[in-house]
Amino acid sequence: MRLILLGPPGAGKGTQAKILVDAYGIPQLSTGDILRAAIAAKTPLGLEAKAIVDRGDLVSDDIVNGIVSERLDQADCKPGFILDGFPRTIAQAEALDRMLAEKGMALDAVIEIKADADELVRRVVNRAKESGGARADDNEEVLRKRLDVYTQQTAPLVDYYAGKGMLKPVDGMAPVGEVTTAIKGALGK
Ligand code: ADP
Repeated sequence: MRLILLGPPGAGKGTQAKILVDAYGIPQLSTGDILRAAIAAKTPLGLEAKAIVDRGDLVSDDIVNGIVSERLDQADCKPGFILDGFPRTIAQAEALDRMLAEKGMALDAVIEIKADADELVRRVVNRAKESGGARADDNEEVLRKRLDVYTQQTAPLVDYYAGKGMLKPVDGMAPVGEVTTAIKGALGK
């Protein structure tokens, strides 16, 4: 099973990805997690990405495309994967199409987790409090920036994947378990 989870910050992509990892036995590929790990470890990639991530902008397509391409070559991705936070631009989606074709892989579905903006702000502000500020980009100002970036650069992917007949929308405002049930229903398993 090869899936993309698409949706704005705070929609629950990471939460659902972790549940689906256990359900389907395939890894979660979160470009956000990979970038945060690089930032924490102060690798060259992390040093380059830190200021961009902290202000809520997108890291360059070349960087994230490279990260994902390498990750897809690892053995645990053979049976499938859940992409969380990638692609985030049309250029990334086109790069993903090319890399999957080269690797002889095909996507099964793109799950769009739909959510309204007010609830997203509430959730992320809450996440920031509960995590004791673990993510430098989880404050209201940067979140609004991330929501703008989503609307401008990532939301066009909804039409991109709908046009390919791959889009499966689910209501991200429902309780976590119901969202999972809706995703599994959309996947037919
Ligand atoms: P969220 O979904 O909560 O906004 P993520 O953990 O997916 O957060 O991403 C956090 C940050 O990492 C983004 O705001 C961006 O700076 C960077 N990032 C993650 N994925 C990508 C990507 N595919 N392209 C560019 N930047 C990315």
